Amino acid sequence: MTVQPRYRRVLLKISGEALLGDQEFGIDAKTVNRIAADVAEVRAMGVEVCLVVGGGNIFRGISGAGWGIDRGTADHMGMLATVINALAMQSALERIDVPTRVQSAIPMSSVCEPYIRRRAQRHMEKQRVVIFAAGTGNPFFTTDTAAALRASEMACDALLKGTQVDGVYSADPKKDPKAVRYDRLTYMEVLTRQLGVMDASAIALSRDNGIPILVFSIHNDGAFAEVVSGRGKSTIVCDANG
Ligand code: UDP
Repeated sequence: MTVQPRYRRVLLKISGEALLGDQEFGIDAKTVNRIAADVAEVRAMGVEVCLVVGGGNIFRGISGAGWGIDRGTADHMGMLATVINALAMQSALERIDVPTRVQSAIPMSSVCEPYIRRRAQRHMEKQRVVIFAAGTGNPFFTTDTAAALRASEMACDALLKGTQVDGVYSADPKKDPKAVRYDRLTYMEVLTRQLGVMDASAIALSRDNGIPILVFSIHNDGAFAEVVSGRGKSTIVCDANG
């Protein structure tokens, strides 16, 4: 039975933490390969896919600032970390014959393409998976905000956030056994209850551009395809009438 995807074009946000596997630092090859296989599965359904990768498995600006590096420099270091992850994802995808392009918000022409919106759109129309690196290119932002921004610019039908758990909970379910899981939330509820799905600027940008956010577990094999098909476990964040 062929499953019809619910969305035509999606952006998947993968945090650096998701690439850690069981490690405390760096990139776990097995995990990267598994995520690449999940992306290939969704692309094979005829869905146009782009990715935003985080960098927290290598460097976070906030921690650098804690050692006395000025915040702008520390954030540049964090953005460079996302480029390392983007190249790892690209190589894992190309090993399984998925055509990709990496576009960086900080131009580094001997490594990858610079971010050019119209060019990225063209790649997507040609079924290439575009991996957006270096966040927004600006310090004091996060890759969650970059994901909402690129999803808006690419006119994506949905932003999928792959996390450590299968949706949004009232508290951290790994620490609080009484934490309640939500199936559906409005952007406003996420903001007012400070539910920590994504930072406030990412939620506001998605709300302003009418992009639903689907939060699901990146650690369950095939979950990306299931969520894109409207099945599987996820929390959807959208308008009250969405
Ligand atoms: N960063 C930034 N501007 C951006 C995106 C990211 O300065 O637009 C920096 C920031 O220092 C951040 C780091 O890159 O800590 C890694 O990104 P993030 O923490 O969002 O990664 P994730 O939590 O998804 O692994």
